[in-house]
Amino acid sequence: MTQHQKTKIIRVLLIEDNPGDARLFREMLVETRRIPFDLEWVDRLSTGLKRLDDGDIDCVLLDLSLPDTQGLDTFATTHAKAPQVPIIVLTGLDDERVALEAVRMGAQDFLVKEEVDGNLLLHAIRYAVERMRAEKALRKSEEKFRLAFENAGDAIFWADPETGLITKCNKAAETLLDKNRDEIIGQCQTTIHPPDKTEYYAKIFKKHIKTKGAVDQEAEVITKYGKIIPVRVTASVTMVGEKLLIQGIFRDISERKQAEEELRKINQELENFVHVVSHDLKTSIITVQGFSARLLKNYQEKLGKRGRLYLEQIKTSAYRMETFVFNLLALSRAGLTVSAFKNASSLEIVKKVTSDLGDRLKENGTELIVADNLPTIYCDGERIYQVFQNLLVNAIKYMGDAKSPAIEIGYQDKGDLHQFYVRDNGIGIDPKYHKKIFETFRRLKETKDQEGTGLGLAIIEKIINSHGGKVWVESEKGKGATFYFTLKKSS
Ligand code: ADP
Repeated sequence: MTQHQKTKIIRVLLIEDNPGDARLFREMLVETRRIPFDLEWVDRLSTGLKRLDDGDIDCVLLDLSLPDTQGLDTFATTHAKAPQVPIIVLTGLDDERVALEAVRMGAQDFLVKEEVDGNLLLHAIRYAVERMRAEKALRKSEEKFRLAFENAGDAIFWADPETGLITKCNKAAETLLDKNRDEIIGQCQTTIHPPDKTEYYAKIFKKHIKTKGAVDQEAEVITKYGKIIPVRVTASVTMVGEKLLIQGIFRDISERKQAEEELRKINQELENFVHVVSHDLKTSIITVQGFSARLLKNYQEKLGKRGRLYLEQIKTSAYRMETFVFNLLALSRAGLTVSAFKNASSLEIVKKVTSDLGDRLKENGTELIVADNLPTIYCDGERIYQVFQNLLVNAIKYMGDAKSPAIEIGYQDKGDLHQFYVRDNGIGIDPKYHKKIFETFRRLKETKDQEGTGLGLAIIEKIINSHGGKVWVESEKGKGATFYFTLKKSS
């Protein structure tokens, strides 16, 4: 920033061959005293042009009739020399027409010498300078926008909402579709999508314009050579000037999709493996349990006290293994549907779970509170039974030595979602473990004395995710725990 910009001095260059007029202008400016001016006077165009070359001039007052040039040429030459500097043309009463022509050619304003006074001059200069500054700022921000649009990493398309025709796109759009701009602009926006889905995308486009809401969804585009590319589209309807336009930003998500597919395959293989192994293990455990039972029954005497003790230990271990394998199998199947999705009363499911767990609840003298607003839900009933069962078993298991143990099952309507919760007043969970406890085989040190496999919450999460919901816990150590889960409402 130069010194005069900091102190807001306006540097005016007066190109005027008449010394009397020049003096007059200087006096007018001095008299107004409202803005600090620095007036430089030259009496020839050639000197004026040289001065403009040196820069730092905010405004030119230009007499069109000079010894070395006349009329519009004077303006054209000056304007060409410094197109960014505003020029105010000075004219006589008789050549207003020429002055007007100069304004048409780009002069900021004109002043008739015979009519001008201090205020008029001041106003004209300030206006010319400010307008030029505003234009400069606008040009700068337009250029910034143009560069951001053109060089954005994502493909951007503009389309006319009325006709659906693409009106503008950027470099990344050309790369995405393997087409040049001429092949994209003027085409219907549906042409960027695979032809067999034209109707689908046309419908989305129309709906989007009608609702004027933002779109954020996955889609597919087709390149010039027929390659289908998965994309994430964010679109919005915007007013640019007087015109409405629809802007779509397309991000290529091929890599992410590929990684997701690979992950899905690996998970599938892992699940198959777990399923097969646990299934085989289950058969072996049943054999161990069967033969130990027979041994105990038929060879009691021969085994003696020690032998019976050993067998009891084998039985306990086999039982533990059975629970573990049962849970492993449950986990490997948790994402799969057991019973078909249908409308079911969540109250009935909860009633069944609590009645099946009745003995354990009674044993601990636990008070059970079930909300009366549990709704009908669209779900795989057996899976949701499993969710409530695991949550209740945990609530009972991790009650600690609460004086009046209580478990509450509740519900909140969350618009598009059902939200359930199971609350206990047991030992609680330190917030730093709130995410970890949902991992497979994750058990907390402080609860290791309780029977468990560390799979219960992992199973719940898998089931809830396959129902389009989420599960989380809110708790503090020693202050009980509330497990929440949501289910998508759908029919
Ligand atoms: P498991 O109960 O077999 O250990 P889970 O996956 O069901 O496995 O639970 C993981 C861990 O989360 C438990 O070991 C326990 O430390 C903690 N936890 C689960 N539910 C509760 C609860 N209601 N109160 C306190 N801690 C809990």
